Amino acid sequence: MFDMFSGKKEDVTNKDTNMFCYQCEMSMVGGCGSNGQDIGTCGKSALESRLQDMMIFGAKGLAAYRSHARELIDEGSQEDRDRLLKIDDVISQSMYFTLTNVNFNFDEHIAQLMKLGSAGVEILDLLSDSHTKHFGIPTPVKITQNRAEGHAILVSGHNLDMLNGLLKRIKERGLEDKINVYTHSEMLPAHGYPHLREYKNLKGNIGKAWFDQTDLFSKWQGAIVVNTNCIVPRDKSTKVDNYIDRIYTYDIVGIEGAKKIEENNYDALIDHALQLPKVSGFESDETLTTGHHYKTILTLAPQILEAVSEGKITKFFVIAGCDAPGKGGEYFREMAKELPPSAIIITSSCGKFRFNDIDFGNVPGTQIPRYLDLGQCNDSNGAVHIAIAVANALGVKDLNDLPVEIVLSWMEQKAVIILLALFSLGIKNIYLGPKAPQFINSDIAKFLVDTFNIHVIDNPKEPQVQAKKDLEELLA
Ligand code: SF4
Ligand code: SF4
Repeated sequence: MFDMFSGKKEDVTNKDTNMFCYQCEMSMVGGCGSNGQDIGTCGKSALESRLQDMMIFGAKGLAAYRSHARELIDEGSQEDRDRLLKIDDVISQSMYFTLTNVNFNFDEHIAQLMKLGSAGVEILDLLSDSHTKHFGIPTPVKITQNRAEGHAILVSGHNLDMLNGLLKRIKERGLEDKINVYTHSEMLPAHGYPHLREYKNLKGNIGKAWFDQTDLFSKWQGAIVVNTNCIVPRDKSTKVDNYIDRIYTYDIVGIEGAKKIEENNYDALIDHALQLPKVSGFESDETLTTGHHYKTILTLAPQILEAVSEGKITKFFVIAGCDAPGKGGEYFREMAKELPPSAIIITSSCGKFRFNDIDFGNVPGTQIPRYLDLGQCNDSNGAVHIAIAVANALGVKDLNDLPVEIVLSWMEQKAVIILLALFSLGIKNIYLGPKAPQFINSDIAKFLVDTFNIHVIDNPKEPQVQAKKDLEELLA
């Protein structure tokens, strides 16, 4: 664990309190902080600068989820429109907060970050409700992994509405038997939704988390569409840059040289898939399980509570979050793998591809699966809903007193808003990794340790060894 997170004031060093800001005319040459200053011309401190950076990152994550929700809300519903308006207010207020000469008060920075977090809770709930309203409440399903045939389209991203639009258009054209559709990365949870499952040509999943795109797409002979982040940019220098003529992007997503789907017209993509060769080389017998949306898990509450009271379930581990390339993610696999059989794993987001190939079976003596995939990153709110339901049933007032441990992988700004959302709910003792966020300095680290008892896994040389060590702590 990095010293910065030991919570000791003496860990504060000039190096990590340095700031950088170049947003106004009063900026020093090269930016305030570029020559080691820890205070800007306007009087903004390094700490305020970092907190404002964090605010912007959180607002970016919130804006992304807000954009996803915008596509699904019921235009005619005043309630939905009001919910979006509240989010918009928090985003614009947070951006305004970071202007030159607006706020130099630490407590008010924290309060604004918590406001962002609360808006994060709201947007995740809105998105989750919109998904289940449109596509039904997911139920568990086992699907094929890395098995594909025929003329095919691979869909990557989070946008279930786009996937539905594509499947609907294929059906309208009477091509359900001619084109198969496969999911990639954060599209995996689509298979759990009953209305999407009704399309018989929605087949299995191909590949893992987003960063295998270059290799995977170069081997995939069919058409491809990416509909949200995360995408891998084109690398013209490599020999695997052979898929650019068969990849399509949707909405805000862009790749140089790719074709764009305009106004939800999928015909060019569908026609292209028919012209391309049938896919081959994907013949694996692997399977994956998904579809444990929290609204389905809550129906299992009586069995789960009984197993808790009988001591058959001793812990719930939320091992979830965004993934990035590198061996740091092995930490999360090791953690999941080494859990005792009486522990349930609750996951979401693309970090699950680090361990979702493992068959975790059922909790011994019960029919309750040990591995529960809540869905995409925006379904992370499910863990909180489950925790609240368990707390109510057990009469526990503080969620932090539940036998729940949270181990999060973070990669980008959607994860930042999720983390702020958890903080705004008062959730403590989170393990966060696999690297310390670079926008956090020692002062912020001290605050997070003192207030939320956060544990940061900072790029351990041996992630598996660190995971075992941390697991001992968590099970003690
Ligand atoms: S806002 Fe303050 S810290 Fe930022 S560039 Fe202007 S003077 Fe420097
Ligand atoms: S879960 Fe996070 S890292 Fe993964 S695709 Fe979604 S936003 Fe990107």
